[in-house]
Amino acid sequence: MPQPIAIIGGNIAGLSAAYHLARKGCPVIIYERKIWDKPCGGAISIEYAYYLAKKLGIDIPELDQYIPHIHFYFKDHRSIETDGLFVTISRYNLQQQLISRLQNDPNIDIIFKHMTRKDHNLFSAQTILSTGFSGLTRQIIGKEWHNREYALALKYSGFFRKNSQNPSHLMAFDSRLKGYGWVFFGSNSQFNIGIGGLIEKKIIYEKFEEFTKQINDRFNYGIRLESSPAVWKIPITLNNWNTPVSYYKNGIEFIGTGDVLGLAHPVIAAGIEPAWQSGWLLGESYDPATHTIKTARYRHLLKKNLQLTSRKPFDIVLSHILRLNWIPFKDQQAYFLMKLFHKKIIHQIKKYPWFAMIHDGEKETGFKIDA
Ligand SMILES: Cc1cc2nc3c(=O)[nH]c(=O)nc-3n(C[C@H](O)[C@H](O)[C@H](O)COP(=O)(O)OP(=O)(O)OC[C@H]3O[C@@H](n4cnc5c(N)ncnc54)[C@H](O)[C@@H]3O)c2cc1C
Repeated sequence: MPQPIAIIGGNIAGLSAAYHLARKGCPVIIYERKIWDKPCGGAISIEYAYYLAKKLGIDIPELDQYIPHIHFYFKDHRSIETDGLFVTISRYNLQQQLISRLQNDPNIDIIFKHMTRKDHNLFSAQTILSTGFSGLTRQIIGKEWHNREYALALKYSGFFRKNSQNPSHLMAFDSRLKGYGWVFFGSNSQFNIGIGGLIEKKIIYEKFEEFTKQINDRFNYGIRLESSPAVWKIPITLNNWNTPVSYYKNGIEFIGTGDVLGLAHPVIAAGIEPAWQSGWLLGESYDPATHTIKTARYRHLLKKNLQLTSRKPFDIVLSHILRLNWIPFKDQQAYFLMKLFHKKIIHQIKKYPWFAMIHDGEKETGFKIDA
């Protein structure tokens, strides 16, 4: 039996890497700090939710409570309603269920441990780094990390008391954030509310308060926060084709996945599916004959697949434009663009979904969103 490959970080990207490597006969050991509710909107495409449910046997209660509408709301009180295209899952439940599912695999060991650089005796010659936006990632990636941009996001989860007949997920564009606010509904009257964008930490709390107030005033959602929202960063690399996918430190090759590579969508910062997809591609790059991950192949596959899905050239161009201060991309323009193009956008998403839809090399899971 070959030496297991160490995977540090057992969440979306790390668990996907473990699952796909184990399927190729590669033994792995995952080191994860804990099961936790990572601050995250938890929005995943319905297609991916079906994949998790059907292929991995994950119970996604939200699939039965799929919310059929998204309300896009603009500052001057104009709004556009479109079909719903995602469900929101609990990150705690997803991580917990994926871990229990993988624990039965003879090729996978899971150890709950907070890893530090001092744990080098536990690293394998090639070690998978799936630690997201964490101190350890920063220490290992070093200088490369500092070139990263990140979006700052605040999120609060709670229970929805008001009995709404027909809730819509709500997304509010705000040019001052260079990002958006959201209210997403999950199962059992849960909701989460947040804002995120290319914004400074010192004003994000103020903007969050403003957003919550607007949502209550305008839509009468009756949202009351009982504790402080959680703040987190989402690394977003606009041009990750020139950045390496592996990093050498003290003779160990650390191979990045998910947020470590800044794979979240460059415009909407959705990172769950690209993280899962990178784990799959890592498995595809494993060579059983030499018991190694071929990093050149991994890099090639990432580029090819992410260009098809979350990182289409159009998204990169759009995210560059959004970052240019001299382009007056205000709420009004956003409204008119959305008004003109939302039918086309929705049609495109249904036909060629935004996210990492090509799971495990299969284009579809059999589920179709009704046209
Ligand atoms: C507020 C917010 C809202 C978001 N909303 C969405 C959304 O609606 N939809 C979407 O698709 N994406 C969303 N994202 C992005 C998404 O959360 C990330 O892209 C995704 O979680 C990346 O997965 P990952 O596995 O790479 O990293 P993570 O999910 O961050 O997992 C890293 C894991 O590594 C573990 N770890 C870290 N350091 C150590 C250590 N030293 N030792 C052991 N374990 C360690 C952590 O405990 C963690 O479980 C959001 C992000 C934020 C911040």
